[in-house]
Amino acid sequence: MLNIILFGPPGAGKGTQAKKLLDQYQIKHLSTGDMLRAEKASGSELGQRVAAIMAAGDLVSDDIVNEIVHSQVNAHREANGFIFDGYPRTVAQAHKLEEILAGIGEKLAGLVLIVVPDQELIDRIVKRGQDSGRADDTAQVAQNRLQAYRDKTEAVANYFADKGMTHTVEGVGTIEEVFVRLRTAIDALN
Ligand code: ADP
Repeated sequence: MLNIILFGPPGAGKGTQAKKLLDQYQIKHLSTGDMLRAEKASGSELGQRVAAIMAAGDLVSDDIVNEIVHSQVNAHREANGFIFDGYPRTVAQAHKLEEILAGIGEKLAGLVLIVVPDQELIDRIVKRGQDSGRADDTAQVAQNRLQAYRDKTEAVANYFADKGMTHTVEGVGTIEEVFVRLRTAIDALN
């Protein structure tokens, strides 16, 4: 299996690149953001519980996302690997992910961090909000999401950097340019 964490602040382009990467490597894309939005859209009890947290740009509890990822990984043991997108977002989630993968006899190949300047991130998010209507894509909520990233999530990149597993990619450029940089970083993992 090829198991990669696609990492970066909100608006870095993780979702866009993940779609291209899963075509390239034929691995399963697990986006906690997409899965939580699907829960919300389904109107499930869980969806109702997380809706307000997501709308405010705060992090959903570790227990909830860990449970979602655990069940998805177990359900796709036959996959060639996974791209984790939007997860782990806390060091506790990082520990859990290592445990989940160990549970199926697997491990992470590495974490690829997409770096984009803050102002560009906010501009992209606001534009995406105008185009797609995603409720948390406003300038104010984006600031809060960026703050949550700095406060809790960035530490995950440091956690894996200490293990020599974090690889940084420049996220400004065309989608194709960033994609080539990501492929180069990922191919170097094997
Ligand atoms: P972004 O565009 O900021 O990367 P996502 O689509 O990954 O956003 O996630 C949207 C929202 O879903 C987050 O702001 C957060 O409320 C919630 N969320 C997604 N993944 C996680 C996670 N691993 N831990 C906690 N909350 C999460």
